Amino acid sequence: MPRKVEVSFDRYYDYAELMQYLQDVAEAYPEIADLEIIGQSYEKRDIPALTITNKETGSHDSKPALYVEANIHAGEVTGSMTALNLIDLLVSNYGDDKKITRLVDVYTFYVLPRVNPDGAEFYLTKPETLRSSTRPWPEENMDKLPGLHPKDINGDGKILQMRVRNDKRGAWKISKRDPRLMIARQPWDSDEPFYSLYTEGLIEKFDGEPFEFIRTPYGLDMNRNFPSNWHPSIPGGGDFPTSEAEVRGVVEFITNHPNIAMANTFHTSGGFFFRNPYQYSDEQMDQTDLKLFRAVAAEGTKVTGYPDVKSSNKACLPEWLYEHKGIISFTTELWDRMGQAGIDRAEAMKAYTPEEKEDVQIRLLHWNDRALAGEGFYEWTKFDHPQLGEVEIGGWDPKLNMQNPPGFLLPGETYKNAHWAIRQAACMPLISFETVKQEKLEEGLYKITATVINEGFLPTYITNKTLELKAVKPDSVTLEGADLLSGKKTVMLGHLQGYAMAHYSGGWGAAIPNSIAKATWVVKATEGTKITLKAKSVRGGQATEELVLE
Ligand SMILES: [Zn+2]
Repeated sequence: MPRKVEVSFDRYYDYAELMQYLQDVAEAYPEIADLEIIGQSYEKRDIPALTITNKETGSHDSKPALYVEANIHAGEVTGSMTALNLIDLLVSNYGDDKKITRLVDVYTFYVLPRVNPDGAEFYLTKPETLRSSTRPWPEENMDKLPGLHPKDINGDGKILQMRVRNDKRGAWKISKRDPRLMIARQPWDSDEPFYSLYTEGLIEKFDGEPFEFIRTPYGLDMNRNFPSNWHPSIPGGGDFPTSEAEVRGVVEFITNHPNIAMANTFHTSGGFFFRNPYQYSDEQMDQTDLKLFRAVAAEGTKVTGYPDVKSSNKACLPEWLYEHKGIISFTTELWDRMGQAGIDRAEAMKAYTPEEKEDVQIRLLHWNDRALAGEGFYEWTKFDHPQLGEVEIGGWDPKLNMQNPPGFLLPGETYKNAHWAIRQAACMPLISFETVKQEKLEEGLYKITATVINEGFLPTYITNKTLELKAVKPDSVTLEGADLLSGKKTVMLGHLQGYAMAHYSGGWGAAIPNSIAKATWVVKATEGTKITLKAKSVRGGQATEELVLE
């Protein structure tokens, strides 16, 4: 089906363009898309959320939902574009692609492509970079602190590195294998020149060396501001959990949508998925939950090649989602720069000797020359620094290479990871009626029997953590339209498992998965009476069946 709304994934949308796209999608696909504003940022920009589901098959909150957010970290703009690619795949393939059509019919997607619009706008329009919020923190006047502040001093729009010749105590030297590369000086080296390396910038209250390096006046990290294991000592964590308006908006949105069964949050970079547990070891985690996390991640690995990796970050969104709500979620670290260069990330992390580290860097430079036409690295160029004298400015492009792909490599990254989110959605539970039967016991008395099933992969409660937290009510089925001889109209069914459980029945879970439950009522009613049965699951959706007594 041709796209009704044009979109490009070979560049990074600024706020105006992103908002326009979302509005256009909501207008072009009114039967499946709704745009809402979930709150306002520190600088009073609207934070958008696009809801995608077929409204004809039920309201968004009556279906299991996947929550997808991006760009809580200012510079991780690949995330926003991946969220837009997800939107595009869903709306433009709806009615055409069988699998996507089914997902949009039975599930809901809540997509928040830019949780931190201020930070992203700053990152996309200025040479400087920042971790997340533009709210100065922990102090108001950090930009006046004595020390080196990153700045584009040669006016090329980039903040690169400065190398300053310093033969006595310079810690770096020029690689003999490639003169662009700065490598670590070794104790037995005596061949000058040696260099000090600094971030390009100016020094506030310069009084010669030494001076401090002031990374940024924007010290907040909104992905350390969630109400799980928060502590004032966490770097960038803010004043108290949800002290930041953007984080409060996200926490309220998720809490107000108890149908959210899973989540994915798009970040850069690395090329892997962070998963729970965040605060303890894999061995200390519920082993069934761990297997479910990894089974879902395996769907992502299939389409991206990225592995799942245990994280240890505190007070971040996925940790809160599991520890407080029992929801399975992932931090997808987009953009595998190493992998693009043909370097195995895990191997590169093991590089230990200076020669091994140099080798990794050389391979990255060769990839830059070969695949990026050399544009990811800036040659060292002389510059007369007002404070340090003669310096050379150059190095890797920190934004469109190290943190995010250059535009022409962006579409491949957004496409495969949008598909990862779609695969994740396909793991969600889904309840339905398998059979509904009536039996006339005598004139005016009928026995009604219904079986409710979970036809999804995951259990309706998602994780054992949910059960431990009592985070959701058990599934139920309610009879309407006639009086009962005895008993209750609403029958509690317990929590329905999914077929994932059967895969692991040898070592864990039930040998026969409890993905089906039966309810029976005896009703006093006459022939021709219409009975309605409504099955309900907080995270497994809702189903309705009608029957006429005969
Ligand atoms: Zn991040």
